[in-house]
Amino acid sequence: MKRRRVIYEGKAKILYEGTEPGTVIQYFKDDATAGNGAKKDTIEGKGVLNNRISEYLMTQLQGIGVPTHFVRRLNMREQLIKEVEIIPLEVVVRNVAAGSMSKRLGIEEGTALPRSIIEYYYKNDSLNDPWVSEEHITAFGWASPQDLDDMVNLTIRVNDFLSGLFLGAGIKLVDFKLEFGRLWENDFMRIVLADEISPDNCRLWDVQTNEKLDKDRFRRDLGGVVEAYSEVAKRLGIMPESVQGENKGPVLVQ
Ligand code: UDP
Repeated sequence: MKRRRVIYEGKAKILYEGTEPGTVIQYFKDDATAGNGAKKDTIEGKGVLNNRISEYLMTQLQGIGVPTHFVRRLNMREQLIKEVEIIPLEVVVRNVAAGSMSKRLGIEEGTALPRSIIEYYYKNDSLNDPWVSEEHITAFGWASPQDLDDMVNLTIRVNDFLSGLFLGAGIKLVDFKLEFGRLWENDFMRIVLADEISPDNCRLWDVQTNEKLDKDRFRRDLGGVVEAYSEVAKRLGIMPESVQGENKGPVLVQ
């Protein structure tokens, strides 16, 4: 078999050269890291679930007109995406206080916020992804004021839509992280949603019990990581063909 060229290897994904010009293959690993790589493990089946969940959410978002890099899922662990120029920012939206916001501002986890709050972090591992403001972003040219405006508008739409979608599945969308890219089509550039949307980068709590169904199970050593991610897939009405170790007969694939 012909070896594929690796374009980039990150903590949870590998990007390979795509099958057509302007495309890239995004491969979902089972690796999990937290604290900027300080904590590491392999969680069997996580990549399969994230591939499927992210495919589903990106497709639903495309359905309401949110442009994304997603083209199609290729197999259990891979999806074809459009090649974009990644904007070096993590855009975090919060509906409920948790994680670093609770720590930094002393707000008890689980406190509903008066309104959704958007934060930006500069994507730079050696600096630990520092918190930055719109001033930094435009002054240092990481994104133009127009790019930022497009990102904020998309982020608000994504939050509104996903909050409702998850609520319908009995899940509270506490917070999540988005990444955006510049997609060039001839001489025109559009900002599109990139990366992935999965329990690796969302906080998802059961509406009734507040049970955590996301990566905090790994970060906080709560156990049951794959079970939680499977539960999210199940509630969304999607399940991958088979998650290793979970071959319990036929499952529905939409
Ligand atoms: N997040 C992410 N990648 C990061 C940092 C945060 O996907 O490098 C997500 C995280 O899963 C959560 C949200 O962004 O849903 C807010 O994370 P927070 O700032 O509270 O950081 P944490 O407590 O995870 O360090």
